Amino acid sequence: MGMIIDGKAVAREIQAQVKEEIDGLKRRWGLVPGLGVVLVGDDPGSHLYVKNKEKACKEVGIRSDEHILPASVSEKELLSLIHNLNRKKEIHGILVQLPLPAHIRAERVLEAVSPQKDIDGFHPVNQGLLLLGGEGFKPCTPMGIMKLLDFVGCDPKGKNATVVGRSNIVGKPVALMLLARHATVTVCHSRTAQLRDEVGRADILVAAIGKAGLIRGDWIKPGAVVIDVGVNRLPSGKLSGDVEFEGAKERASRITPVPGGVGPMTICMLLFNTLRAAKESLQREG
Ligand code: NDP
Repeated sequence: MGMIIDGKAVAREIQAQVKEEIDGLKRRWGLVPGLGVVLVGDDPGSHLYVKNKEKACKEVGIRSDEHILPASVSEKELLSLIHNLNRKKEIHGILVQLPLPAHIRAERVLEAVSPQKDIDGFHPVNQGLLLLGGEGFKPCTPMGIMKLLDFVGCDPKGKNATVVGRSNIVGKPVALMLLARHATVTVCHSRTAQLRDEVGRADILVAAIGKAGLIRGDWIKPGAVVIDVGVNRLPSGKLSGDVEFEGAKERASRITPVPGGVGPMTICMLLFNTLRAAKESLQREG
């Protein structure tokens, strides 16, 4: 049976290091990292995510500055808020909680965030830098996945990595990160012809689909490392990943659970990126 990767424990460890560095920044430079959080509308899921992110900020000493706007806010008003946050010296990172209401063009809003404050790594400049192998901000969930692989001692070099899902926030960036670490990467999606075969070849499998148990346990290559990003609410109210966990854990060497695998790492990487943005602002000021 495979080892279950405890994302919460890894996140706690990284969070403690982030806190220590923030304490140092405060002592040495009197600098408190600041995160501007923008939440539009009253989607309960988004409110819960934002609440969890703010709680984590508080725990490590990041000041979060919350802006809750009604769903009726215009794109222009929202852009003007982003421009204000871009100008504020005490705000080092900006987080725009997605999804935004349909009348607002999310890409316009994400492009308005200064790339230097784009701690989610969604700005085209940062996405482009990721493609080119540069040092921009990287999206938090894929970063968290790479940290988990490092933590369990899985070096992607030379391995077959299969990513199921090609979204801009998970599938594509994690595929690029695995490629940068010298894996042989296959990206699958809803039109992939033989998903089972692609999964069966994977030494590292990343599932980011959003369909409970779509990947069957007996598809997994024996000894594979399985990272399940999916978060799906079952009719029973329980959460489930995209991989059929009970079957997969018998074949995998290491596997993330849902919940408690990738999720805690995403928040942790947000803290990490906010700290980085604050440190880089100090360097720019010389
Ligand atoms: P998207 O809906 O943006 O993308 C889903 C991807 O899955 C698409 O590329 C889609 O293909 C592919 N897909 C859908 N059906 C199939 C299928 N039958 N076979 C193969 N591929 C398929 O989702 P996200 O990337 O935003 O999120 C994926 C999951 O991860 C969700 O459950 C989400 O909740 C979760 N998530 C969890 C996070 C965490 O921190 N734990 C953070 C972010 C997301 P196509 O492109 O062809 O449509």
